[in-house]
Amino acid sequence: MKTIQGVGVSAGIAIGAVRVLDTADHAVERRVVDDPQAEVERFRTARATAVSQLKQLRDKTAAEFGEGKAELFDTHQLMLQDLDYVESIEGLITQSKVNAEFAVNSTAEQFAAMFAAMDNSYMQARAADVKDVSRRVINVLEGKRGGAAADEEGGESRIILAEDLAPSETVQLDRAKVLGFVTAKGSANSHTAILARTMGLPAIIGIGDAFDLDDDGHTAVIDGTSGLVFVDPDEKTLAEYQSRKAKYDEHLRLLQELKGKPTETKSGQKVRLYANIGRPSDVAAVLANDAEGIGLFRSEFLYLESEDYPTEEFQFEAYKEVAQKMGDRLVVIRTLDIGADKQVSYFNLEREANPALGYRAIRICLTRPEIFKVQLRALLRASVYGNIAIMLPMITSVQEVRDAKKILEEVKDELRGERIDFNEHIQVGIMIETPASVIMADELAAEVDFFSIGTNDLTQYTLACDRQNPNLGRFADTHSPAVLRMIRMATEAAHRHGIWCGICGELGADLSLTDMFLEIGLDELSVSPTSVLPLRDAIRNY
Ligand code: PEP
Ligand code: MG
Repeated sequence: MKTIQGVGVSAGIAIGAVRVLDTADHAVERRVVDDPQAEVERFRTARATAVSQLKQLRDKTAAEFGEGKAELFDTHQLMLQDLDYVESIEGLITQSKVNAEFAVNSTAEQFAAMFAAMDNSYMQARAADVKDVSRRVINVLEGKRGGAAADEEGGESRIILAEDLAPSETVQLDRAKVLGFVTAKGSANSHTAILARTMGLPAIIGIGDAFDLDDDGHTAVIDGTSGLVFVDPDEKTLAEYQSRKAKYDEHLRLLQELKGKPTETKSGQKVRLYANIGRPSDVAAVLANDAEGIGLFRSEFLYLESEDYPTEEFQFEAYKEVAQKMGDRLVVIRTLDIGADKQVSYFNLEREANPALGYRAIRICLTRPEIFKVQLRALLRASVYGNIAIMLPMITSVQEVRDAKKILEEVKDELRGERIDFNEHIQVGIMIETPASVIMADELAAEVDFFSIGTNDLTQYTLACDRQNPNLGRFADTHSPAVLRMIRMATEAAHRHGIWCGICGELGADLSLTDMFLEIGLDELSVSPTSVLPLRDAIRNY
């Protein structure tokens, strides 16, 4: 038996035969061509074929996973139409008289290296996308079909083992025949990890050098929670994981029975159980998991996925769609939280030595009110279509709240002048995610309608531990008594002033802390959609 420790990015246990996908970058031959113009034409035809394959893939993904997940293949089509990308390939062919395959591969490597060097995890993840679309074009040029996994139809269900899996390869796999994924590379932020969670399949990334082509056909057990992989498991391990899998499956089935049941402890203490989203399409998962509202809509994803500042109309449609789908359930929309690890090129932000301590979130909104106002107009206009609340991120002082509310009042006046309806009583709250906001919680509570504690940043700033740094180990203690005491302080201050207080950071879903959160008296917990039912279970058992 071989035991491998990777990083679990999607929970669940799979037991079955391994299918190794050979997705490694193969050397692309360099040839000199006599007729560069004919070679450019050959590239153009292949590119058109790749675009039409991507269109089909888009429709298949939209039908199986929803529009949100399909958007990725719109991005892939745009990448193939990007002028810089196309000019680089055609320039190489004409100037160096090389074959199209080689020109596409060189350009892909150059663009991928450029993305990988950016200090922004979202853009870094795009390196895999540019390689993915380029490999598709090369495959077409070589007379093969599309991505590496395209011909993975038929046969029995398998655990997929790959060097790396591009998003398009993940969705091209016949879902009914995939038990789970294990990859040598990958990041928890990648689209593939997100898709695995959406597909409800166990997934493990980062097994590194333990990746072995010879494992093809061998039996394996994978545990997406612990990140453990066992190849050729011994009888004892196999029996243990068969029983764990049966328990896990039963647990999932039982959780389904909690849909529609109140989130209430045995003694009758009620907690509002909400979900976090990044895009309108995530509402489907919120409803499927029976969340009672949305406690954090990270609106900056609308900006991250755009090529330029999203317009008022575009934002209005997005907020309206979420509000309408959620009916009278509360939808807390956080205003733009750009900066730090979430960089957007068109904001032209200067490079900073310490971006997490730099020009970000509310600081951008208060110094560039023209951007902030577009978002506030969209939010207010959408507020008549449901139950929207506005939440301000990264607050450190009372003055920031007053300044933001002043801008909000100006926007309300504008709308009144234009006779545009909005909810006059819209709730305005703040995120408690800096130590300063905890210290000033009493004064801040007097200014707003609610608090939502962002434990991800609160932990980073309280412990002086960069949340992006995976090497801080025990120093980045997620259960630090300092942070837990701050959660208590903020909640008590909120209650002294008659406002509600919730948690929307990752700690809210930590079941080992649920009892403590109930004892502190938090009014709301907002977690990822798949954590809603496990948390309801824990609360009902308290
Ligand atoms: C937080 O900081 O805990 C939070 C919820 O916001 P984000 O993770 O988007 O910074
Ligand atoms: Mg935060």
